Amino acid sequence: MLSRSLRVASQRRFLSSTRILANKVSHTEVKTAQDLSEVTDASSLIGPGAKPGTIPTDWDQSTGLQRLELLGKKEGVDVFDMEMPITEGKGTMNDPFLVPTYMGYRYVGCKGTAEEAHKPYWMKVEEGKPSRCWHCGTVLKAKYLGEPGMAH
Ligand SMILES: [Zn+2]
Repeated sequence: MLSRSLRVASQRRFLSSTRILANKVSHTEVKTAQDLSEVTDASSLIGPGAKPGTIPTDWDQSTGLQRLELLGKKEGVDVFDMEMPITEGKGTMNDPFLVPTYMGYRYVGCKGTAEEAHKPYWMKVEEGKPSRCWHCGTVLKAKYLGEPGMAH
């Protein structure tokens, strides 16, 4: 038990010393992002911590993805895209539904149209080729939102 905690401690020291070396030229304190536009990388997603004697709130101490989600909620942005329906397109061959993706593809479950529902049919919707639901004929197409050339 003791040896394991020692090993963790020495790894931490190694990581922090390499970071200091990398920042040697211009050592700047990483700022806690106060809103989504200030998020630069994972190190800006660390809370300020609670004042002594108080119980920390999520805002004080949450980090990482939880903090990113919290920042989004403050601004009404659903960062993990849990609720947003697909609103672009009509679902036809000429005007397919556009499925936002940051990877070049996305799995989508079609449950039918407003007129006729069916059991969920799962499709891999890829960039560049329309996907068609074989139950109701709805057509979907991927819309890549990431940086150009970074898909896959
Ligand atoms: Zn369908």
